[in-house]
Amino acid sequence: MSLSDDLYRETILDHYHQPRNHGVIEAPTAQVEGVNPLCGDELTLYLNVSKDGKIDDVKLTAHGCSINMASGSMMSEAVLGQSVERAREIIGSFKEMMLSKTDTAELVDDLEDLEALRGVKKYPVRIKCALLPWNTLLEGLNSANPNAPGTATKTFTET
Ligand code: ZN
Repeated sequence: MSLSDDLYRETILDHYHQPRNHGVIEAPTAQVEGVNPLCGDELTLYLNVSKDGKIDDVKLTAHGCSINMASGSMMSEAVLGQSVERAREIIGSFKEMMLSKTDTAELVDDLEDLEALRGVKKYPVRIKCALLPWNTLLEGLNSANPNAPGTATKTFTET
């Protein structure tokens, strides 16, 4: 095992043991239940998206494997305070890294923590564990209703 594998493992375990932005938002502008039946990962994502298109708050509760929990924690840190537009860019960049056949996909700037999840590509069955929080976020951004908090609830299932 290389030194970088060790560092990546440490980053993942740190997020797994101390998930960032863990919790619930009352009357969020979007709420999405995400499920990955293959592994049994489940999470609930809460978003507050402002009328001018900024992610003011993001919280999640999750019951999943370490990859899933760590990915959700990293995702919440990456998009909190960002514009919806920028968040979509980050989602696209992360998914490209995880799904590209080659290993040349570069992440957009300032997302070094997410590099830790690149190693998951070695275990194809776990890629969906890493993607679930991001696809759930995408569903949340698509369904968010800043004019009627507490009304937009959705589910997303990895297939
Ligand atoms: Zn999993």
